[in-house]
Amino acid sequence: MTDTYAVGIDFGGTKILAGVVELTTGRLVGTCKKKTRTPGDTLDVAKRLSSVVEEALAAAGLNKKQLTAIGVGAAGMVNRERGVLLNAVNLGLTEIPITEPLSREFGVPARLGNDVEVATIGEMRFGAGKGCDNFICIFVGTGIGSGIVINNVILKGAAGTAGEIGHTVLHPNGRICGCGAHGCLEAYASRTAIAKFVASEVARGQESVVRDKIDPTKGILRSKAISQALESADPLVTRAVTEAARSLGVGLASVINLLNPGKIILGGGLVEASELYFRIASEEALSKGLAIAVKKTEIVRSGLGDYAGIIGAARLASM
Ligand SMILES: [Zn+2]
Repeated sequence: MTDTYAVGIDFGGTKILAGVVELTTGRLVGTCKKKTRTPGDTLDVAKRLSSVVEEALAAAGLNKKQLTAIGVGAAGMVNRERGVLLNAVNLGLTEIPITEPLSREFGVPARLGNDVEVATIGEMRFGAGKGCDNFICIFVGTGIGSGIVINNVILKGAAGTAGEIGHTVLHPNGRICGCGAHGCLEAYASRTAIAKFVASEVARGQESVVRDKIDPTKGILRSKAISQALESADPLVTRAVTEAARSLGVGLASVINLLNPGKIILGGGLVEASELYFRIASEEALSKGLAIAVKKTEIVRSGLGDYAGIIGAARLASM
C-alpha cells in the first residue's frame, strides 16, 4: 500500500503553521512556519496559504501529485460548507474564501474547520485522546477554547458554538472579558490575564525580569518570556501563573462535575511553556471536583503539542 499524504494548515492571527501528514499514522513528514502578516504588507490570504503548502511539500520531499487533500483550521468563526473564514478578529478581515483557492491551485479537495475543532480531531485520532470515547481538550493561550468529545463525536451545539469554556463565568462582578461580559474564566486563567496582571503590578512599581518584555498598551507577554521568568524564580510572574492556574483548576472542577470525562487534555502555548501552570491547575481541579467523579477523570497534557492543529486539519481534509 502506498502512503497517502495530506497537508494540514493551522491558520492563526500571528502565525501560519503547515505540515505534510502521513494519513494512516499521523506522522509529520515536513513542516513550514510563517508569520501571518509581515509588517507593512497587504495580506493576500490565498497566496500566503498556497506558499505554505508548497514549502511544506518541499520540506517533505514530495511533489503536488502526491498530495490527496488540504485541511485548514482557522482562528475565528468559519462556514464549513462554503469553506469561508467569516470573521478573523486578529486580522481585521471578514468573509475570506479559504478552500476554493487552495482546491483550484492544487487540484485536490480542501476543507475548513475551526482551530480548536481541528486540534481536538488531532488529539482524538493520534494524540492523548486516542482510545478514549469521552474527553475534553482545553487549549490555553491568548484565550481559552475547548473541544468536547462525547461518544467519539465532537459536540457542536445548537448554534455551533459549544466548547466556549473561556466564557463560562467564575466571578459575575469580576474583571471585564474581551467578550464584553464580566468575570469569564478567560479573564483570569489565560496568558492574556497573566500579562495584564503582571503589567498592572509593574506599573505600580513591582520588580520583575519581564518588565521590558510586556507590551504596556495591549498587555501582551509571550509564553517564552513567562517560562524564562519562571525558570529564574521571578516572584511576580510565579504569583501570576499560580493564580491563573488556580482559576483554571476551578473551571476544570466544574467540567469534571458536569461531564465527568475520561480525560481532560490540556494544551496550548501557556500549558506547553509552564509545568507549574499544568501542575497547579490539575491539583486544584482534583481537590475541588466531586470525589467520586475525579477518581475517573485523568488530567493529561496534549499528546501532539503545537502540531495538534496541523495533524488534525490534515485528518479533517480526508474525512
Ligand atoms: Zn468572556
